[in-house]
Amino acid sequence: MKILFAAAEVAPYSKAGGLADVVGSLPKYLEDNAEIAIFTPLHGLIDVNKYGIKELENSEMWLTFGNQGHKFRLFMCKLPDTNINIFFIHNDWYFTCFKEVYPKWLDTRYEHERYVAFSLAVLEYAKALNFKADIIHANDWHTAMIPIYLKSNYRYDKFWENTKTIFEIHNLAYQGVWFEDILDFANMRKDIVYNPDGVEHFGKVNWMKGAINYSDKIIAVSPTYAKEILTEEYGEGMDYTLRMNQSKLVGILNGIDYSIFNPKNDKNLKANYSESQITNKEKNKKAVCEYFGLKYNSERPLIAFISRLVKQKGLDLIRDAENLMQSTNADFVFLGSGNKDYENLLIWLSNNTSNIRSYVGYDTKLANLIYAGSDFFLMPSKFEPCGLSQLIAMHYGSLPIVRATGGLEDTVIGYPLNDSTGFKFWRYDSWDMMQAIYCAMDVFKDKMTFNIMRKTAMKSDFSWYNSTSKYLNIYKQLAGQNI
Ligand code: ADP
Repeated sequence: MKILFAAAEVAPYSKAGGLADVVGSLPKYLEDNAEIAIFTPLHGLIDVNKYGIKELENSEMWLTFGNQGHKFRLFMCKLPDTNINIFFIHNDWYFTCFKEVYPKWLDTRYEHERYVAFSLAVLEYAKALNFKADIIHANDWHTAMIPIYLKSNYRYDKFWENTKTIFEIHNLAYQGVWFEDILDFANMRKDIVYNPDGVEHFGKVNWMKGAINYSDKIIAVSPTYAKEILTEEYGEGMDYTLRMNQSKLVGILNGIDYSIFNPKNDKNLKANYSESQITNKEKNKKAVCEYFGLKYNSERPLIAFISRLVKQKGLDLIRDAENLMQSTNADFVFLGSGNKDYENLLIWLSNNTSNIRSYVGYDTKLANLIYAGSDFFLMPSKFEPCGLSQLIAMHYGSLPIVRATGGLEDTVIGYPLNDSTGFKFWRYDSWDMMQAIYCAMDVFKDKMTFNIMRKTAMKSDFSWYNSTSKYLNIYKQLAGQNI
């Protein structure tokens, strides 16, 4: 079985979020069962020398779209510790000139052009390499054009006639919406695709809608998110289309790579520890307090928040609850960057309160120290497709306090259930969030319960092994239809 993955970002080469982690790690676990090729853009930030990425001989290819010829080149290396080929598509104008995966302030139309270019190049290079995939696994709107092309321009192409497509939704909030003229740019068969059963959505082109309509299978990154996106509340305007395609939709939880996130050997920590030798965890708490200028007190809970600062992550609840947080007998540390209003809120709280401290920026080392040093991890998300942070927090013994949505609902067992691993609230409401925080603080005083919960959380298994078999079943099911 041959599987082709296409994604805008792949760890460790280029990473902006969870998508990169998934595409960079899932294939490793499939390697024994399938021949895999990964395609991703050669973003200018990718360190070609560090990873031994080399250009293939005679790789130059010209493709015509947008009324002109475009030159592409193809680079390649092996995914670390595997025999999997990862192909990097080079184009100066669209990718290689940028030092970010998603450069800010790009003209939206140009962003669409970039991923039309990428998707076409993936299909043409795969053909040139004779990689006749049984399955193409496309991810998020950037690669949504691939299943759409296969059902339109390429539908009579013998090479692709047996290929099935999977479209994975990592975040429904970003759909790729632009005016109809982008179809002319893409040379896409408008007569086939520009209708509500294709890519048309309220008079515009919506790439994600097209992929949902045309793919053979749709995967959402957690079972609860797969149910939520069928509703108006979480559907981002796509719930009707998803309900029409419900028979193809399935939710599979993402995993995390415990070889990367492990308090036993994480070099970013002040002291390493495990669930059976937990005493060293306290040294990390001391280090975090020191870093943020808080007075260390083992009896006072330390609650952490690490995230992109966007509305999705529940920052409005934090703003609403700031007074209550200030008067709470706990310390809070925030690490994040993003929306300026939220950044300012965190800076203000840091400067004007005695128990809330923030670092505005992106710092993975500090993040790991905070996971290790905190007692609780706050994630009051409005929606959360899967969420990796709560999985990392649990493994580092920081009990999650979460709004029960998406992957948070699926991965955290809320106190006081058996084997509980964290605390949950349901309504998107600051008062409810505070009640969950107060409950966590009470449990913190009850050392026996707290220690049992912490041990249970640290031992929970969210490794890829659990999810891989579910992906594999889907691949086999789809491929079986045509082998
Ligand atoms: P999302 O993909 O929506 O951003 P996830 O919970 O799936 O949320 O993954 C977020 C990842 O990014 C986690 O590994 C988290 O530790 C990390 N992260 C988020 N913000 C920061 C930051 N400011 N500094 C360091 N790491 C961060």
